[in-house]
Amino acid sequence: MNKKMVCGKPKIWKDPPGAAMYCPGCQHPVIDRVISEVLEEMNIDGKAICVLGVGCHAFVQVAWDLDILSCAHGRALDSATAVKRLNPDAIVFTVQGDGDCIAIGAGAFIGAMARGEKITTIMFNNTNYGTTGGQLAPTSLLGQKTATTPHGRDAALEGYPVHTAELAATFKGTAYSARGSVHTPAAYQRTKRYIKTAFQKQIDGIGFSFVEVLSACPPNWHLSPIKCLERIGEDIVSEFPLGEFKNEDSTERLSKSK
Ligand code: SF4
Repeated sequence: MNKKMVCGKPKIWKDPPGAAMYCPGCQHPVIDRVISEVLEEMNIDGKAICVLGVGCHAFVQVAWDLDILSCAHGRALDSATAVKRLNPDAIVFTVQGDGDCIAIGAGAFIGAMARGEKITTIMFNNTNYGTTGGQLAPTSLLGQKTATTPHGRDAALEGYPVHTAELAATFKGTAYSARGSVHTPAAYQRTKRYIKTAFQKQIDGIGFSFVEVLSACPPNWHLSPIKCLERIGEDIVSEFPLGEFKNEDSTERLSKSK
């Protein structure tokens, strides 16, 4: 009997996969898989260099057979800038959590966009600091109960959620900005297209490219994995809409964009 393989393991995924470090229902390894598929399908895994910050996203270093640089908290984009400038032909990308990218790493993030670095950043947004026990993050929703806001995020005390993909789109140095999720098969495929487009902007030398991806965190949301998917589809996309916020196809247009 002829058997046809319908789903395999991405080439850069080690065997056995180190993704076993994640909590049950965590979507970080699902997003890692999207990135793996994109690198393989675009045939750029051989010249890709991944730069990681600190947080649950960094567990991927034991899952991927890829050139990886682990950095101090929030400094991935500073290091990635040096890596890209020294290796202009490499595909350089950072994988960062929301805390790493837009809290501790906000200065590095803004600097990289302002300079229009030819780097791709993929930011996992799970609306809290997962690794350290579920504290308030810049992305926590209003009313969200976290370890540091046990009565829920109050705008008068803790301010409002930061919309990173929309913020990235306002920078002249940004060529591409989008927000995806992986809470349904259709969303998975759409996010894959966003990440492919982001890498293509880097290959074409247009500017900085950014994809934010919503990610479930069951233990810190105090929900089952299935309820987490419902929360993303009902509550989180209301605050953080999915889609593309900027897509520039030439450096000329980029220099004229507002
Ligand atoms: S704490 Fe949250 S983000 Fe971290 S591994 Fe567990 S589910 Fe994933």
